[in-house]
Amino acid sequence: MNIITYSPAYTIVPTYECFNLCTYCNFRTDPGKSPWLRVAAAANILKQLQTQNVCEILILSGEVHPQSSRRSAWFQQIYDLCKLALTMGFLPHTNAGPLSFEEMQKLKQVNVSMGLMLEQLTPELLKTVHKHAPSKLPAIRLQQLEWAGELQIPFTTGLLLGIGETENNWWETLEAIANFHQRYHHIQEVILQPHSPGNQQSFDAPPFDPNQLPEVICKARQILPSDITIQIPPNLVKDQQLLLACIEAGARDLGGIGPKDEVNPDYPHIQEQELREILQPAGWELVPRLPVYPQFDSWLLEELQLAVKRWRKLTPNPSLCQGKGSRN
Ligand code: SF4
Repeated sequence: MNIITYSPAYTIVPTYECFNLCTYCNFRTDPGKSPWLRVAAAANILKQLQTQNVCEILILSGEVHPQSSRRSAWFQQIYDLCKLALTMGFLPHTNAGPLSFEEMQKLKQVNVSMGLMLEQLTPELLKTVHKHAPSKLPAIRLQQLEWAGELQIPFTTGLLLGIGETENNWWETLEAIANFHQRYHHIQEVILQPHSPGNQQSFDAPPFDPNQLPEVICKARQILPSDITIQIPPNLVKDQQLLLACIEAGARDLGGIGPKDEVNPDYPHIQEQELREILQPAGWELVPRLPVYPQFDSWLLEELQLAVKRWRKLTPNPSLCQGKGSRN
């Protein structure tokens, strides 16, 4: 049977406040309007997860401006939450927007991988959906990919499709990812996320046409090096036949599956059993994976390597221990 992976995950949100104003956002609140998650409150949440087969803790945060006097407290809170998750036996993966080189370096000590969506590299979007989102400057995001490579941080990135870009913009963005990977060999996954309108956004545009996804995946598969996995979020591809078509086209991972999709709160995750029922009759076996791919284990600091080793022993499926082999 062919293998398709997912990560049993739970998302904790240090804060929803964000100084950017992307018009398609369904996550953010204004600065100062979202109380920060305290470490003690997070510990209570994580305690309940210890018996629930959750491996990855995704730390997903809104951003405090790099020049703000509150930035260092914000960063320290993220670091402390990662450390807590690690101490409680989970594997942290942080996505908190663009970071300084030093911030990235520090978070490498408490994360098994990290992520940041490139979304789209075309500067045209700075006139529209990203007009009030300084963090979405393409050069800033490319810099993150480069620093992650220099620091040997296993990295997840991706494209947001359907926010006003052209088809050529997709290929340019994918080529940029491929180029960085050829230099640093650090990209483990590329997410292809279709724009799916939610209740909070002001961007008044239709959803990305999901029928186009298999074609995009197919072309992405040609552009990206074969050791990068293509991920699609199954809650944003509602039609079962289309989901299977995306997999046939080359997607091999369904991302983190947990109780809530914090980025698309109007689109509940399809849970594991339901996914199995869709995939199995078509010859696909759904298997859990860790938030770090095996070929990157040696990049991790010792404490993280030990934590990963414990999880690999608990997930004896050989496909999870062989890196590339797990993804055809
Ligand atoms: S999409 Fe991300 S960067 Fe943009 S406003 Fe929302 S939380 Fe902030």
